[in-house]
Amino acid sequence: MERLDRVRAAVAAGGLDAVLLTPGPDLRYVTGYDAHLLERLTCLVIPAAGDPALIVPRLELPAAQAAIKQDLEMVPWEETDDPFALVAGRLGAAATVGLADRMWALFTLRFRDVLPGARQVLASTVLRDLRMRKTPAEVAALREAGAAIDRVHAQVPGWLKPGISERAVARQIAEAILAEGHASVDFTIVGSGPNGASPHHEVSDRVLEHGDAVVVDIGGTMPSGYCSDCTRTYALGEPPAEFGAYFEVLLAAQEAACQSVRPGVTCESVDAAAREPIAAAGYGDQFIHRTGHGIGLETHEDPYIVSGNDQVLEPGMAFSVEPGIYPGPHGARIEDIVVCTADGMERLNNAPRELVVV
Ligand code: ZN
Ligand code: ZN
Ligand code: ZN
Repeated sequence: MERLDRVRAAVAAGGLDAVLLTPGPDLRYVTGYDAHLLERLTCLVIPAAGDPALIVPRLELPAAQAAIKQDLEMVPWEETDDPFALVAGRLGAAATVGLADRMWALFTLRFRDVLPGARQVLASTVLRDLRMRKTPAEVAALREAGAAIDRVHAQVPGWLKPGISERAVARQIAEAILAEGHASVDFTIVGSGPNGASPHHEVSDRVLEHGDAVVVDIGGTMPSGYCSDCTRTYALGEPPAEFGAYFEVLLAAQEAACQSVRPGVTCESVDAAAREPIAAAGYGDQFIHRTGHGIGLETHEDPYIVSGNDQVLEPGMAFSVEPGIYPGPHGARIEDIVVCTADGMERLNNAPRELVVV
């Protein structure tokens, strides 16, 4: 029950009267319960003072009991009960309540009605600092996710052939993401040729051609709940000469940014470490996104590796380092998940980063 206790202490220290967590990553973080997000209210009430309780539909109770391995009061409600009134009754005259960042408006507005005197704030105001600093067990879970997606990337060159569509490659990747141990496929980006110049291109029916560069950015969620996310860029035969030139710049920039990671360094300085060599080589305008994002129970979470974020890195913070250069009619990105350690960083992705020519 250690994590729940830490959250409760953070609720009190943050000046909140309670946080209300509906199904999503915050609830899973605190309890391990990967609850279905349904119109029937499931809500973990964590008051600053008093005991936490899970308000749960009667029919979800067995699932909740099976998933939550700690001593936590569960309050089942019947189909004719008002679960929002149940929550309000436990909170009394709360002045400030934190709501799970991903709570549906359907619930947020009902809570506003039953707690008219309470100011609503994001639960992340207290959960962010906890979730951002991964415990050794969380880092181990991310390491496992990283190794699993590395095993998928190891198979990708075998699927890239002239005449096959991006969609067909993505289908094989999705199968492999599951086969290598993920519980779900989160995304399979296969950007070939001109599509590689669009960072969040998913897939299309475009057929791969000799001479294409192919950006493959893939990830899934492990049974632990922790996510993988890794990008490699491949080439079908000799890529265009200009591509080769900026790919080398990108590789060096990604390496420099990873090597800059250590405790005490700010997120924006890691972004700058990736951006400066790319700008110096004349491709600054073609690096059109932030350098990275935190990762954990969500693929994108704090801390964001972006200019303006002066968040200081601490051991246990895990995030992507994924600079890209997209001049068109092709593009490239290299992405690893790294975790800040006591004296530097550990890469959680270790598939070759150099251009793999197939
Ligand atoms: Zn992305
Ligand atoms: Zn990615
Ligand atoms: Zn990413």
